[in-house]
Amino acid sequence: TTLLELKGVSKQYGNDTLALSDVNFSVKEGEFVSVIGPSGAGKSTLLRCINRMIDASSGEIIFDNVDIMNFNKRELRRLRTQIGMIFQHYNLVNRLSVIENVLHGRLGYKSTFAGILGLYNEEEKRQAIQMLGLLGLEEQVYKRCDQLSGGQKQRVGIARALIQDPKMLLCDEPIASLDPNASKVIMDYLKDVSTTMGITVIVNLHQVDVALSYSDRIIGVSKGSIVYNGSPKDITTEQ
Ligand code: ADP
Ligand code: ADP
Repeated sequence: TTLLELKGVSKQYGNDTLALSDVNFSVKEGEFVSVIGPSGAGKSTLLRCINRMIDASSGEIIFDNVDIMNFNKRELRRLRTQIGMIFQHYNLVNRLSVIENVLHGRLGYKSTFAGILGLYNEEEKRQAIQMLGLLGLEEQVYKRCDQLSGGQKQRVGIARALIQDPKMLLCDEPIASLDPNASKVIMDYLKDVSTTMGITVIVNLHQVDVALSYSDRIIGVSKGSIVYNGSPKDITTEQ
């Protein structure tokens, strides 16, 4: 079944930059899709339109059978629990602990940070600790985020998204700041999220080899348009 469908989506920044131009594709439940393309192609804009961090200029975005283009604030808050976002630079609150960052995801963007752990009951804390354990971070639960390696920070980002029980994860260059070993760990976790939890994953990557080895499907973007949409098997990396 189809989880996400984009119909004629365009995004213009200001008067001249057409970052996305008539983008059409759909994604099935549980699929692992990589979006590849050069810097400036529109990959990041595409993901941000899908969870309405930014507004597309035109077109339709249908998620879970509902057009999300006209969602109000309350509907958007709910949408963002169902669509988790993973960022290149992690977007953690560095002076808070790992568990506080994970639980903070549940409060949404605009919550205050003061005394945050006290806002949660024991069951919520237990769930956060369990999720961190699944991501191999049991030793890091009460550490401050600024004491973690990049790969560990990204795993906190994944835990923060997963604790909300999402249907889909959007990952914007999740391994672009990581070394090859940490990159493999993160990609393996994302693959696991897709195969064992049934969560749909869309990941922006500039490493074509990584995209080819992990994905069910590749979407190639160039200058705001989709130039490829198909199996990784049909792509040759020869120049
Ligand atoms: P990618 O993720 O593939 O590198 P982006 O989506 O970041 O591409 O950018 C696509 C195009 O849109 C680029 O030309 C970029 O400069 C432009 N762009 C991205 N964000 C903004 C913004 N907030 N304001 C104006 N132009 C932007
Ligand atoms: P990242 O490395 O996280 O993709 P970018 O350098 O692409 O960061 O973008 C950082 C921020 O600047 C984003 O919020 C993006 O929307 C904005 N941005 C990117 N390109 C432009 C642009 N040409 N004009 C204005 N803002 C831009």
